Amino acid sequence: MRLFAPRERYPQETRVALTPPAVEQLTRLGLGVTVEVGLGASLGIDDASYLRSGATIGQSADEADIVVRLRPPPLDEIRTQRPGSVAVGFFEPFFQPELVRAMTEAGLSALCMELIPRTTLAQKMDALSSQASLAGYAAVIVAAERIDKVLPMMTTPAGTITPARVFVIGAGVAGLQAIATARRLGARVEAFDTRPAAQEQIASLGAKPLVIDLGATGEAKGGYAQALTPEQLMQQRQAMAKSCAAADIVITTAQVFGKRAPLLVTAAMVAGMRPGSVIVDLAAGSGGNVEGIVPDEECLVSGVKLIGLSNLPGKVARDASQLYANNVVSLLTHLWDPAAKGLRFDLNDEITSGTLLVHGGQIRHDGVRSLVEGS
Ligand code: NAD
Repeated sequence: MRLFAPRERYPQETRVALTPPAVEQLTRLGLGVTVEVGLGASLGIDDASYLRSGATIGQSADEADIVVRLRPPPLDEIRTQRPGSVAVGFFEPFFQPELVRAMTEAGLSALCMELIPRTTLAQKMDALSSQASLAGYAAVIVAAERIDKVLPMMTTPAGTITPARVFVIGAGVAGLQAIATARRLGARVEAFDTRPAAQEQIASLGAKPLVIDLGATGEAKGGYAQALTPEQLMQQRQAMAKSCAAADIVITTAQVFGKRAPLLVTAAMVAGMRPGSVIVDLAAGSGGNVEGIVPDEECLVSGVKLIGLSNLPGKVARDASQLYANNVVSLLTHLWDPAAKGLRFDLNDEITSGTLLVHGGQIRHDGVRSLVEGS
């Protein structure tokens, strides 16, 4: 069985889907691995390193049984994959109905990294978590570089510097890593999440949970947050305005799976912050938590720096690639049938069934199917 890893087509992408150690593991599994010329160039990994780890160097996906990517590919690339072959990657299924339709029409089986169940058993394959964790770290490093003050308290002969105040909105995987990173740098951290379970996790990292009584917020399937009502959102914004105004840095990470990110920081709340303070919006790529955020730009609004980097894991591309490649290896190992020397799709298995977005000419995820049919 042959696996191909093409170069990423997204212009600002610095990560790669397969690293040489991952190639070695896949080769040991029994797969023949080909990588596109220059796959690792953005990381300074040359073709010779891939060759040494057992890959061959090639140009196209035509012959491949499995094609492993990181970002959603352009539609014409999907059409070059042969029917019956497998596509692996982040496919943004809720935002790219055309791509899902193209994969279905091309007769592919699509293993969608966003749909890997968020369970203990699937942790090793959970690429949303591996990338979100690095994004949370990178957000704080970017903010620390752009803010006009230090993060820790410093007692000097010339005077005492108070620690920076960081307010984190959304304490999932990215938010918790942002809290931990800001704490390690010595900042005073406050955080809020709509899921009640998050309060204990925030406190366990040495941050102060902001408590807002929004009534029932609930949890959706898979531990995801439920979308709030417009009234609850308004109440949340009012209650957070004081914390934003007191903060030197605000990091927003709030997402509702499969939906546009909720707008949580309004222009009025931004105007209430001190000039020179910084907001990093991790949700910039999915609509933004902050009014006025522009993806991949830094804007100055009311003297506040609004930073909307949509590829924060790409700031630490070496580690992000290593973790993503490990996630892919774990997924393919889970699906590997040594006797048949191929992938086996056991639809009774929770991980396989959850991850397999497209198979046998069908879209298997109900929410995505209705989106594609309605588009
Ligand atoms: P996510 O990226 O979907 O959302 C980020 C955070 O935003 C979440 O914590 C969510 O509750 C929060 N949020 C949504 N609306 C908000 C609002 N209006 N205000 C403030 N915060 C808001 O979440 P994620 O990081 O991918 O995690 C999703 C869930 O999966 C969490 O419960 C997490 O603990 C769980 N998880 C479990 C495992 C595992 O068991 N292996 C692994 C990873 C994640």
